[in-house]
Amino acid sequence: METFSSQRFFRALRGFEATIRLMADLYQQLLEASIQHLEQLRARGVRFVSVSQETLTELGQMSGADLKASVTAAKLAARPIEKPPVKPTPPAEKPMTRLPPREQALSLILPGEEIVTPAPEAISPEAKAAAFSDLRNRAMACVKCPHLAASRRNVVFGVGSIDAELMFIGEAPGADEDEQGEPFVGKAGQLLTKIIETMSLTRDSVYIANILKCRPDTPGQAAGNRKPTSEEMQTCIPYLHEQIDLIRPKVIVALGGTAVEGLLGKTMGITRLRGQWRTYRGIPLMPTYHPAYLLRNQAPSEKRRVWEDMLQVMEKLGMPISEKQQRFFLSNR
Ligand code: URA
Repeated sequence: METFSSQRFFRALRGFEATIRLMADLYQQLLEASIQHLEQLRARGVRFVSVSQETLTELGQMSGADLKASVTAAKLAARPIEKPPVKPTPPAEKPMTRLPPREQALSLILPGEEIVTPAPEAISPEAKAAAFSDLRNRAMACVKCPHLAASRRNVVFGVGSIDAELMFIGEAPGADEDEQGEPFVGKAGQLLTKIIETMSLTRDSVYIANILKCRPDTPGQAAGNRKPTSEEMQTCIPYLHEQIDLIRPKVIVALGGTAVEGLLGKTMGITRLRGQWRTYRGIPLMPTYHPAYLLRNQAPSEKRRVWEDMLQVMEKLGMPISEKQQRFFLSNR
């Protein structure tokens, strides 16, 4: 065992105390910033926030004593170091009661949950535009996936009208999208644009986004894309949730199996899921094939299937459907 002089021991103690104080200060700052951010969201009409299952579990396990200890640590750090800290009275309260599962589901959004979010009237157009711009800025500066932040050329946030009634969601940007900073601009994107225009809509009148805002990296590969990992999708999806909650489209179209998996957590396969209405964040969602699939499989029957899904979307949106539109891809079937 090492022998300390009282002076050396006192110096070490002061150093330790300073470190604790710094940590508690940082903790306090983080806590205050989090509360401030949540209050800003609430002021803008946002009533739900995304919390990972892991965080939810940790919070659920936190006892009143844990919370009190955190607050006490912050308070202790605010004291002048010369004064000996007063021993806090032992916490007498019972551990924090866990919310029953129903209440957790109502107050927190988990991937694939079908819950009703606030009505669009809850936010003014100015507040909506400001919230969207703030969201965009946060996403553009995101480094939550350091490997993707290091390899990307652009963050591909989304494009279109923030008042759109229809939202298309793909999986992740490819090389062209990464280069231009806009979703669905490559070959598959051009086909999506054709589909949108055949519906008598424009890219500007709908909103197009991906689950992942960065191109999945392909280290050691000169070309090609890769499917986003579920961890990457889980990390990025809160941005999409905020986009959906602000836009409040009347209908969402999920493009391809990976997008459906990322949104609904379904592993059933797009062939069985497409054409069947689902609900996502309280909004009707139509799963359909990814346009890249239609480029690989040129069979008119597959085009007709996607088109039938889009006819269902148009009907849900109350759009007029012409005779010509009804018959597209039917003759060659
Ligand atoms: N595929 C997608 O899923 N998204 C894009 O933006 C481009 C291709």
